[in-house]
Amino acid sequence: MIRTIGVIGGGQLGRMFALEAKRMGFDVVTLDPQEHSPCGQVADEQIVAAYDDMAAIERLGERCDVVTYEFENIPIKAVQYLEEHGFRVTPSSDVLRITQDRLLEKRFVRSCGIATADFAEINRLDDFSEAGMSIGFPAILKTVRGGYDGKGQWRVRSLDETRVAFAAAKGAQLIYEKVVPFVRELSVVATRAADDSVVVYPVGENTHDRGILAMTVAPARISNNARLRARTIAITIGKKLGIVGTYCVELFLIASGELLVNEIAPRPHNSGHYTIDVTQCSQFEQQVRAVCELPLAEPKMESNAIMMNILGAGKGDHLTGEAELLSDPSIILHMYGKHHAVDRRKMGHFTMLVEGAVDEPAIARAKAAHAKLGWD
Ligand code: ADP
Ligand code: MG
Repeated sequence: MIRTIGVIGGGQLGRMFALEAKRMGFDVVTLDPQEHSPCGQVADEQIVAAYDDMAAIERLGERCDVVTYEFENIPIKAVQYLEEHGFRVTPSSDVLRITQDRLLEKRFVRSCGIATADFAEINRLDDFSEAGMSIGFPAILKTVRGGYDGKGQWRVRSLDETRVAFAAAKGAQLIYEKVVPFVRELSVVATRAADDSVVVYPVGENTHDRGILAMTVAPARISNNARLRARTIAITIGKKLGIVGTYCVELFLIASGELLVNEIAPRPHNSGHYTIDVTQCSQFEQQVRAVCELPLAEPKMESNAIMMNILGAGKGDHLTGEAELLSDPSIILHMYGKHHAVDRRKMGHFTMLVEGAVDEPAIARAKAAHAKLGWD
């Protein structure tokens, strides 16, 4: 019997997970180094500790019937510790090992017979001339571990720029990826349960701004054929990975119609936030169901949606324009309770419910609504 769920990481993903878990009657304990974290504010309890503080991880395990995590950049030893000491934790450390390492992840995807961008492993400056020659420019150098929201990435167009980027990476292991000339960026959020059942949300269409998600349109405006292939890719990956929980597969659609996998997130995803407002069972509730071994719910879309992120600007911590935004009844606002609106930090998002197909006028309406917001 599961009564209390632990969440390693106290950010907005943990918060939205906790809100669903609380609604369903569970207790939630989060572990995060920063007091009064977004998740800690809505959880029953927060253990304030570093992710690699094993005594604190043990306390979390003892306090909870099952533990999960809200992002992949936690030390793998935290998850291994729980596994080795007989605590229930999901997704497993095997899943985390692959999804927190861009090289292992791409090799895993290819082993499933699914395409990725061309890539090379970079450990020494010398590896570049070879990688540059076989893969070419433009390319992106990414740290193999620890990157998110475009952090730890450098776009390079020449060997000289690559050398500068290599120096900036300060010895971190790198992956060199060909820039994919995509026509659309897509993502598929899905949940797999321990009994191997999988539920899949409609494909989302994503727009990024300098590496950070700006907008998701759901469902994506793509052919039925691409939609089906994206769905199949997500199911194949979830099953081969053996993940128990909600996950997301990020994809590039290229002009030929081919789909390439960019990355896998072993957790609910920013591009799936629209599911809170337009499906009967959100990506976070599915995560609760998966970790508690409750049946998954086949998602039903009650409306089409546009989700836009609200980022800090480094100007002030007080959101302005809220009243004007909310004068539109089709807009649902979610703020994460972060006290400092640091430049480009994810502070919240809104979902705009769209009747009928999402078209350019609907997107223009969402952007105009977004433009009303500011920081003071
Ligand atoms: P993060 O972990 O920061 O989300 P991603 O690999 O998803 O890292 O990169 C962030 C964004 O940068 C992507 O969503 C995409 O817009 C762009 N990007 C990353 N890799 C490539 C690539 N190989 N080709 C083209 N664009 C890319
Ligand atoms: Mg990404």
